[in-house]
Amino acid sequence: MSTTLRFKMVEEAFDRKAAPVAIPAERPEQYYAELVFDRRKMFEYLPKDTYDELIDAITNKRPIDRRLADSVADGMKRWAIDNGARHYSHWFAPLTGGTAEKHDAFVEHDGKGGVVEEFSGKLLVQQEPDASSFPNGGIRNTFEARGYSAWDISSPAFILDQTLCIPTIFISYTGESLDYKTPLLKALNAVDKAATAVARYFDPEVKHVTSYLGWEQEYFLVDESLFSARPDLVMTGRTLMGHESPKNQQLEDHYFGAIPSRVEAFMLDLEIRCHRLGIPVKTRHNEVAPNQFELAPIYEETNLANDHNLLLMSVMNEVARRHNFRVLLHEKPFAGVNGSGKHNNWSLGTDRGAMLFSPGRTPQDNLQFITFIVNVMAAVHRHNALLKASIMSATNAHRLGANEAPPAIISIFTGSQLAEILDRLESSEGADLSDLKKKSDFSLGLSQIPDLMLDNTDRNRTSPFAFTGNRFEFRAVGSSANCASAMIVLNAAVAEQLAEFKKAVDKRMESGVSRTDALLAEIRELIRSCRPIHFDGNGYSDEWKEEAARRGLDCETSTPVMFDAYLSPSSIKMFDATGVLSKPELAARNEVKWEIYTKKIQIEARVLGDLALNHIIPVATRYQSMLVDNVVKLREIFGEKAGEMTSRDLETIEKLCRHCREIKNTVSEMVSARKVANAIESEREKAIAYHDNVVPAMETIRRHIDKLELMVDNEMWPLPKYRELLFIR
Ligand code: ADP
Ligand code: MG
Repeated sequence: MSTTLRFKMVEEAFDRKAAPVAIPAERPEQYYAELVFDRRKMFEYLPKDTYDELIDAITNKRPIDRRLADSVADGMKRWAIDNGARHYSHWFAPLTGGTAEKHDAFVEHDGKGGVVEEFSGKLLVQQEPDASSFPNGGIRNTFEARGYSAWDISSPAFILDQTLCIPTIFISYTGESLDYKTPLLKALNAVDKAATAVARYFDPEVKHVTSYLGWEQEYFLVDESLFSARPDLVMTGRTLMGHESPKNQQLEDHYFGAIPSRVEAFMLDLEIRCHRLGIPVKTRHNEVAPNQFELAPIYEETNLANDHNLLLMSVMNEVARRHNFRVLLHEKPFAGVNGSGKHNNWSLGTDRGAMLFSPGRTPQDNLQFITFIVNVMAAVHRHNALLKASIMSATNAHRLGANEAPPAIISIFTGSQLAEILDRLESSEGADLSDLKKKSDFSLGLSQIPDLMLDNTDRNRTSPFAFTGNRFEFRAVGSSANCASAMIVLNAAVAEQLAEFKKAVDKRMESGVSRTDALLAEIRELIRSCRPIHFDGNGYSDEWKEEAARRGLDCETSTPVMFDAYLSPSSIKMFDATGVLSKPELAARNEVKWEIYTKKIQIEARVLGDLALNHIIPVATRYQSMLVDNVVKLREIFGEKAGEMTSRDLETIEKLCRHCREIKNTVSEMVSARKVANAIESEREKAIAYHDNVVPAMETIRRHIDKLELMVDNEMWPLPKYRELLFIR
């Protein structure tokens, strides 16, 4: 990239006008979910008995047989073709992150030299994608060579770019999961079962408990010209160098400012696309950092919500291109300004309409509320290390624990009102609670919760896991992550906890204790034992790190070491008890995590090395020669008198020399560290070597380059600077 090219790109980016958006003539209610094979379309395209059988299977989570599949496939194909589809694809979420598709046309030979468009139940229900290219952590070596994808009937098919996409799970032939959806569905089943059993203490008619997820997707936008002028953004999704812009987010003028018109056009286009695909996006706004934005939907059942988030991430990329933007989903594309997360708002609700984390009107309702809240707290306490592992990645590592939201320690924020209720419950031992229903028990405060909650305005932005009035908000999830990773652990951990709670309460009741007393006694014990997870203070403070360690919370900061939590005895036991993942599956998935970690750092290190040696050093050296030239000429002209005139230049020359030398030395050290790491056989040890020895070298190189950026002639600097990348006109 020559410098003139940099300026050309900047000019191009700054001159760009908002792209036109094709605004539909209809209102959203007319085109909402028009690209989804939902119940309305099923009813229209399927024979009546097929429709009834399919709905029954979906509702009661029953498998479908071949005859039914054939009939569904036929209707689905006709609907898809009526809506312009030419191909079909199983759509799944492999462990690499993102989504995978393999498209096949509907066409088959018709036996007369032509083709017909066919789609059978067999192709709908099961396929064998070429699985060898997806990571499996050795599962397929251990078990069986092939993998297959199978239709998840609980998630509706949709049309994306003339392709009928069928949401599927991806598993090995011997049943081990090779994706995120399979264990997610198992975790959701487990929490349904365990929470239903507990909810029946309060309402015997409850048949199912549903897990809900409302994600908030944060992202950055960068003009495509500037993006393409930054090889680091193109190849790693983040800037590996770049001095802070003199103005970034200090004034918070972006957060409160109007959305730039180019961005507004992009957002509108994206919303229309999302609504057509049945993704119920609702909220959009600027975020704290310049060029940073957020998009959030109305919450949905967790599996569907997660499919919608995965779909959104791919649609965003495509729509952004139409507006000459690139979306950066990386957790930390720019140093020095806020990173991006994906808050996971999570709750449980019964099929009888009760939201289990919402306080109710009666003491009995509130006993249910407290029961579920306390069990969540206990589960998060027991599995705090595992929950942290579930959201950790090479990219999220830049965000967590790095002096901004949230710290790399999992704790729960409850707010002062809930905290007070928990305190009161804990210390209420001996109170007569035998008739909670009639006597609104003021000493416990269970009757006062609704009023208290109404003014629950205290919010703590530094907490990774916060109670927000009717739900929990898991804020540590990374912006590029598949939410399923966090949702698998959270739902499974809560399922395990609720099942144990049920057992303990039943045992007390068997010995003659009333149900209310048995519940309260167990709740009290849980409140006591999970105290350490409760923290309402400032999560960024150094005191908290010390305090958390004293409380026995997991304080590990090395990403590859954090993954060990998946293989701790308590995790293996929990995943086994809930039937979500077996030990061999956990081991295999960890291999993939370590491998991905290594690859990400390896790519970044290579890109940084190249940029340092081929882009930055040559420019710095050229600038240095200019200065040297100047000094020599001044001496020629002024002789002795040139001393004072050249003293500053000489200092600069020395500094340039020093930074260049440090960069060259550290690049060479980094390359050696990589070679050593690459030779390590164990994926875990290799990832740790990359973390311990390669990452620090990258930080050193960056520091020196960023210093050079401030010294070298702006006209010569080859890469767009932060002040150019971060401000959309
Ligand atoms: P915030 O103030 O945190 O930005 P919002 O009102 O924007 O809160 O909501 C954030 C997300 O929380 C949205 O996706 C919303 O649908 C979701 N949400 C709201 N209530 C629930 C709930 N009970 N369960 C799960 N998600 C919820
Ligand atoms: Mg929020």
